[in-house]
Amino acid sequence: MKLYNTLTRKVEKFNPLKNGAVTLYTCGPTVYHFAHIGNLRNVIFNDTLRRALEISGYKVTHVMNITDVGHLVSDADEGDDKLEKGAKREGKTVWEVADFYIDAFLKHTNALNVLPPTKIVRATDAIDSQQEIIKILLKKGFVYQTQQAIYFDVTKLDDYGKLSGQKLSEKAVAVRREVVTDKDKKHPQDFALWFFTVGHFSDHQMRWDSPWGEGFPGWHLECSAIIHQELGEPIDIHTGGVDHIGTHHTNEIAQSEAAFEKPLANYWLHNEFLHQDGGKMSKSGETTITLDDVVNRGYDPLALRLFYLQSHYRSHANFTWENLTAAQNRLKDYRAMADMRFQIKPAAGDIFTSFEDFQKLTLEKIQNDLNTPEAMASISQLANDTKEVVFSTNEKEFNKFLQFIDGILGLNLLDSKDISDQQKDIITDREKARKKKDWAKSDKLRDRLKEQGIGLRDSEHGPIWYRI
Ligand code: AMP
Ligand code: ZN
Repeated sequence: MKLYNTLTRKVEKFNPLKNGAVTLYTCGPTVYHFAHIGNLRNVIFNDTLRRALEISGYKVTHVMNITDVGHLVSDADEGDDKLEKGAKREGKTVWEVADFYIDAFLKHTNALNVLPPTKIVRATDAIDSQQEIIKILLKKGFVYQTQQAIYFDVTKLDDYGKLSGQKLSEKAVAVRREVVTDKDKKHPQDFALWFFTVGHFSDHQMRWDSPWGEGFPGWHLECSAIIHQELGEPIDIHTGGVDHIGTHHTNEIAQSEAAFEKPLANYWLHNEFLHQDGGKMSKSGETTITLDDVVNRGYDPLALRLFYLQSHYRSHANFTWENLTAAQNRLKDYRAMADMRFQIKPAAGDIFTSFEDFQKLTLEKIQNDLNTPEAMASISQLANDTKEVVFSTNEKEFNKFLQFIDGILGLNLLDSKDISDQQKDIITDREKARKKKDWAKSDKLRDRLKEQGIGLRDSEHGPIWYRI
């Protein structure tokens, strides 16, 4: 398998640390609002990676965090905690807000047929592990304390910024535009590991005792702590959206590598953004779209899944309702192809000689840095061919092939059911009417099927049904 590694800026052959096993960590959602369909693109990217690894024979241990504390409105440790902001907006406690949006997130990812991570850990359930890291960093002299927070001193590391390739001096320019509210913070790029519940944060709802004073952890720390607690360093693969490269992942690397003196992760993978109206979709955007919006407009959640897979994860994808309609039509074609398993005709010709070859080629595309668009191009070709030609094949082999497609794309093609015996009888009666050239009856029977959502096309091997 080959994967693009942000750390080396190259497509590399993937070699896990342990033969046949992979440790994968994903930065999960910040649960102060519904995930929008941009966030869900990130989820499908992770799920595709997971499926590609599993189909390649690896046992994957996939850990994901849920950010329910410490993620401030600005990446430069400024502004309110996003959860506190959500609580104010909704007149609820932060805990209620977190529970509600975790539940919504899991419902949405389930509807998208996402494999549940092996373990999900909330930041608020890993406070001890986060404090342990601060203790180590204090001992090693990487951090300093002000009245407002405990900060990681980024100048103590030679290779801070290696993930983005950005020099500290370049990053300073980007951050200095922010108003730095803590006058004792030494460098604008220093990041908080622990905020004290004083001043701006004196009303913060979430707070824990610590050896240094009551407070709450900074956002980046939870991922380092959860990785240490659940997987240990280094892990094989760490993922997130491209917006995480410059700050969140850079800071995860800084604190973990300073504390544990091992690389945090060997491969860093990042998905590009979903765009809407020419810009990044964001939770604060006015036209943000959620999965509920998609479903309320009559789309199948799996059409959205297919829409994501049509773009390579490292390219921008542009969302429009027209694009989603096209994806839904493509899904219909795939389902029609899958429904051919109920109507294989012994007398018909084969479309191609071997599913095995096709499967091999498709897998190669997926194993080439998750090239889902190319893999789907050949599946679409096959779906189109089945519209033209009825094929006779070994039913078992065809089922195995569909199972393989479901395995990599997660489109549940094998979920569709055969039509009912009654509907089959209608098709037989219509055939009889046609043989007698009773066109009026034949048309009536075809219309009756249509009312039930079943279309018919006549092939030289007999009628073929499909779902309208
Ligand atoms: P958040 O809930 O804001 O912490 O984001 C969850 C994940 O979604 C992160 O990995 C982000 O990088 C990713 N993300 C945010 N916006 C977009 C977008 N418009 N397109 C794709 N991924 C996104
Ligand atoms: Zn993270």
